[in-house]
Amino acid sequence: MFPSKKNKILHNFNKFVDEYIGEYSKKRNFDFGNSHKNVSKLSPYIRRRLLSENEIIELALSKHSLNSLDKFIQEIFWRTYWRGWLELHPKVYSEYENAYKTTDIPLKTGIKCFDYWTQELLETGYLHNHARMWYASIWIFTLNRPWEDGAKFFSEYLIDWCPASNTLGWRWVAGLQTVGKNYLATADNIKLFTNNRFNPKGQLTENHSPILSSKNLNEEVLDKIPYEKIIFNKLNFDRLGLVITKNDLSLNDVLDKHNKNYAKCLFYNDSNTKSEIVRAFERELCLNVTDELSDCELIENFDNLLMWAKNKKLNCLVFPYETIGTEILNNKILLSKLQNNNISYLFYLRDWDTYAFPFAKKGFFPFKKKIHDLLKLNCLL
Ligand SMILES: Cc1cc2nc3c(=O)[nH]c(=O)nc-3n(C[C@H](O)[C@H](O)[C@H](O)COP(=O)(O)OP(=O)(O)OC[C@H]3O[C@@H](n4cnc5c(N)ncnc54)[C@H](O)[C@@H]3O)c2cc1C
Repeated sequence: MFPSKKNKILHNFNKFVDEYIGEYSKKRNFDFGNSHKNVSKLSPYIRRRLLSENEIIELALSKHSLNSLDKFIQEIFWRTYWRGWLELHPKVYSEYENAYKTTDIPLKTGIKCFDYWTQELLETGYLHNHARMWYASIWIFTLNRPWEDGAKFFSEYLIDWCPASNTLGWRWVAGLQTVGKNYLATADNIKLFTNNRFNPKGQLTENHSPILSSKNLNEEVLDKIPYEKIIFNKLNFDRLGLVITKNDLSLNDVLDKHNKNYAKCLFYNDSNTKSEIVRAFERELCLNVTDELSDCELIENFDNLLMWAKNKKLNCLVFPYETIGTEILNNKILLSKLQNNNISYLFYLRDWDTYAFPFAKKGFFPFKKKIHDLLKLNCLL
C-alpha cells in the first residue's frame, strides 16, 4: 500500500485525484477494508513532508475546482491545525508522556472488528480514519483502558505516526479535547460505515461519560511559537549546509528556489518504533531520497554529522523545525558540539506552518474560517 519511491507515490496520488477525489466527501467516512481506495493514503508522506501540503493541493487544484475539493483541503488542514495546537499547548504532550505505560497488544478481545483492526494495524501500519476513531473509542469506553496507553500503542505501529494528530485524536475521542464531548462508537455506525463487514451488536459500551482531567491544560496556551524567522537571502550559501531529516524530506525544495549551490545531507536515525514494517519503510524512503538528490550523503550519527560539516568547512546548518514530539536534531549534545566548533544552526519553520499555527489556539471551527486566506498566502489561489 505504501511505495517508497517518489514517482510511484505521485503516480498513485494522480490516480486518486483522477478517479476518487471527486467522491471524497461522500465516501471518505467508509472503511471498505484493505487497499482503502476511497482515501488518499498520503499521511505517511505528508507526515514526513516527502510531499508538502502545497504540492498536494496544487496538484489537486490543477484538475478540480476549489469547491469540489473543499472537504479534502479541509482534511489537509486538520493535520496543520493539530500540529499548531499542540505546539501552542506543549504541556498537553508532556502530561501524556508522563502518563502512558507500554502496553500489551490487545490481540483477542472477542470483538471481531476491533481484533481485525489490531491485526490490520500490525500488518500494514495503517488504519482508516473512522477505524481509528472506533478503535480508540472501544479501547477507552468498552475495554476501559487508559487513552494514553492506546495512543502509545498507535505510536509504535502507525506508519504515519504524528505526535500531534495521534495524541490529540485520542484526546478528542476521550472527551478531553472538546471538553465534555466524547466520541462513542456504536454498532449501527460501524455496520453502516464498514459496508456491513462488521456489526458488533451488544458488544460495545454505547453510553459513557467523557474522561475527566483534573487539569485544564487546554487553557494553558503559549502566546506564540518560539521560532526564528530565517531570511535566506542574507545567508552565505557557500558555507551553508542543509540537514534533511525524516521530519521534512523535501526541505531542499525551499533552498533550491534561491538558485545557489549549498551542501546537503540526510540525517537518518532508526526510530525506536516497535514495528519492523515502519522501520523498513522509513529506511527505504530515506535511502530513496538520498539517491534521488544529487550530492546528498546519508549520515547516521551526530559525530559523523559534525565531521561532515567540518570537512565541508560549513559555518551554518539549516535543520527542519522540530515540532513537539518530533525532536531529532534538537539535542543538547549535538547542539553544544556544533557551538564548540563555531557552527551555527537554524531550525527552519516552513511558511505553511508560520502562517497557520497562530490561528490554532482554540477550536477547529475558527481555524477553518482562515483556510481561504491561508491558501491565498501560500499562493494556491
Ligand atoms: C485516534 C486517532 C489517531 C490518529 N493518529 C494519527 C497519526 O498518528 N498520524 C496521522 O497522520 N494521522 C492520525 N490520525 C488522523 C487520520 O486518521 C489520518 O491522518 C488519516 O486516516 C490518514 O489517512 P489518509 O492519508 O488516507 O487520509 P485522507 O482522508 O486521504 O486525508 C488526506 C490527509 O488529510 C489529513 N487528515 C485527514 N484526516 C485527518 C485527521 N482526522 N486528523 C489529522 N489529519 C487528517 C492527513 O494528512 C491525510 O493524509 C488519527 C486519528 C485518530 C482518530
